[in-house]
Amino acid sequence: MSYVEVTVIVNDESVKPKLKTMHGLSLLIEAYGRVILFDLGPSSEALQYNADLLGVDLSLVDALVISHLHSDHVGGAPYLGWIAPSTKSYLPYATGCSFTQYIRRNGLNPVEVLDWIQVYPGVHISKSIHGPPWEQSLVIETPSGNILFTGCCHPGLETLVSEVERKIGKVRAVIGGLHLSRAPTNVVERAAVYLLSKRIVSIPLHCSGRELLEYLNKVNPSLIIKAGAGSQIAL
Ligand SMILES: [Zn+2]
Ligand SMILES: [Zn+2]
Repeated sequence: MSYVEVTVIVNDESVKPKLKTMHGLSLLIEAYGRVILFDLGPSSEALQYNADLLGVDLSLVDALVISHLHSDHVGGAPYLGWIAPSTKSYLPYATGCSFTQYIRRNGLNPVEVLDWIQVYPGVHISKSIHGPPWEQSLVIETPSGNILFTGCCHPGLETLVSEVERKIGKVRAVIGGLHLSRAPTNVVERAAVYLLSKRIVSIPLHCSGRELLEYLNKVNPSLIIKAGAGSQIAL
């Protein structure tokens, strides 16, 4: 039985040929009867085009979570504001006036997250950690452990996992950008060894690079899920 369903709308690589591939990330998450959009990708065009092609109805989104303020994660705000006006939009710590205004100007309802909050039963947003920039994660509980959603992992994978385990409990899977695409091999291997030692399932997307995926696939394929734009993943 799955508790969390994820559709990858925008990503650097795709599993379906007709989708736009762009440097950026946007995930649609359904859990506990709620629909959450995690990041917006780099542009409204990419978000709208891929959502339409995938048959994803973004007007049903209950909440938006922005991991951090890099342009490849926030560009789709105009389209979300148009199709799902007044959506509560959870922004990381230290967002500042101009970005908050940008969210508001696009018809969305900004909420700055200052510390861990539970937005729905079983659904949490972490406190922001400085990478730079300040970055927050989404965490969804399941009976067999927590699912950790990362935008780019600027503060570092181990830091984010440790913070979730300190506050909420065991991480079972991590999905999103892991910031390893140009990392030296020893850094990738350290991340892989860490994930293997904790038996965390990885679904690397966006800025994760191929090296981690190939390493984990060789050592323990049961701990890796290959995904791209168009993937639907049940966790
Ligand atoms: Zn990014
Ligand atoms: Zn980033």
